Amino acid sequence: MKQHEQFPLVPISRGDGIWLVDEDGNRYLDAVSSWWVNLFGHNNTRIKDAIKLQLDTLEHVMLAGFTHEPVVALSEKLAKLTGLGHAFYGSDGASATEIALKMSFHYWRNTGKPNKTKFVSLQNSYHGETLGALGVTDVAIFKDTYAPLLMQSAQMPSPDFRLAETEESAENYAMRCAEALQNYFAAHHHEIAAFIIEPLVQCAAGMGMYHPIYMARACEICTQYEVHLIADEIAVGFGRTGTMFACEQANIKPDFICLSKGITGGYLPLSAVLTTDEVYQAFYDDSTIRGFLHSHSYTGNPLACSAALATLAIFESDNVLQTNLEKAAAIWAKMQVLTDLPIKHLRHQGMIFAFDVVTQNAQFSKQCYQAALQQNLLIRPVGNTVYFMPPYTITFDEINTMVTAAYQAVKNSI
Ligand SMILES: *Cc1c(COP(=O)(O)O)cnc(C)c1O
Repeated sequence: MKQHEQFPLVPISRGDGIWLVDEDGNRYLDAVSSWWVNLFGHNNTRIKDAIKLQLDTLEHVMLAGFTHEPVVALSEKLAKLTGLGHAFYGSDGASATEIALKMSFHYWRNTGKPNKTKFVSLQNSYHGETLGALGVTDVAIFKDTYAPLLMQSAQMPSPDFRLAETEESAENYAMRCAEALQNYFAAHHHEIAAFIIEPLVQCAAGMGMYHPIYMARACEICTQYEVHLIADEIAVGFGRTGTMFACEQANIKPDFICLSKGITGGYLPLSAVLTTDEVYQAFYDDSTIRGFLHSHSYTGNPLACSAALATLAIFESDNVLQTNLEKAAAIWAKMQVLTDLPIKHLRHQGMIFAFDVVTQNAQFSKQCYQAALQQNLLIRPVGNTVYFMPPYTITFDEINTMVTAAYQAVKNSI
């Protein structure tokens, strides 16, 4: 709060495609998709119209004992896309994590393995900040204050390629991390319920990218040791990594997939946990307490579901993943100008782009953010990592504008 005396809030009055417009009429290119939620620009006609249409029919009804068309249609679409046929809805990413953790734990109780109660995540992981989700998150600044409140979990070495030895390939490093996972599971699998990971990119850790072989190996190891694999695709889902879901790049089918953020194109809060027939069956019983009792008032909200359906319709009609390949190539080509600056680990995965700035300036991230605003660009460096995760509607002109402004902002703050 106090820091805002130096960094005044920016009052945004409207959105216009990739641009945010403040009350004085200044425009900011939203290169972080308003914290990774926006896919097709602000004030998008198709998503907006779908919500308006739904608003004239049914704004909300409880999903207990009742159902409605948008939630059924969305569940069927998500099932087709993920190969996981059962959906449970929440309203934000952290609650999706909570749902997946609870469901995994409860599955093992229902199937006669009540000792499987522990969770494992990766070093530098981020899965949300409610108490359960924070328990499997590994970011000290969010976690340390609340440590006495949190459930204990184990962290495995992160395959983030920046952590590899010099000379070591991304693939070899990923295999080395997978070996550590295997050793841990060999010793502890009887008490582990699930392993939760962010597939391909650990976004909150500063866009830590890794080789897909890690996911393939992790999935095999989980199967071998009867541990659930929870894929937290909250940030990376819906095309960010180049494929619809990051898991596709390792050809794996996890036991749970958590989705949120881009699911509604950034319009309304919604999250979903997708799971398998096998998990579903473990809760299918006459006894109420063997059911999954997770009450959530706004579960499957029709307005949010209709925004999600409109978002998925854009993917289908506009050949989005294909077009993104060209845009990603253009952004990557343009970003090569940044190699003039003192940076390392210039990297990208699909439509996520990042580099780490080498500087002694301890205030780099705040100053760079501020310098970028002066260039009409919204970026939010994570420590010394500068990244772009723009809406997919970015044009080739806007790509130039974005990278040029970032170049100046970095140069002015190192
Ligand atoms: C943002 C994020 C979450 C938490 O989502 P919220 O909606 O902010 O609670 C969880 N996991 C990952 C990977 C995220 O990026």
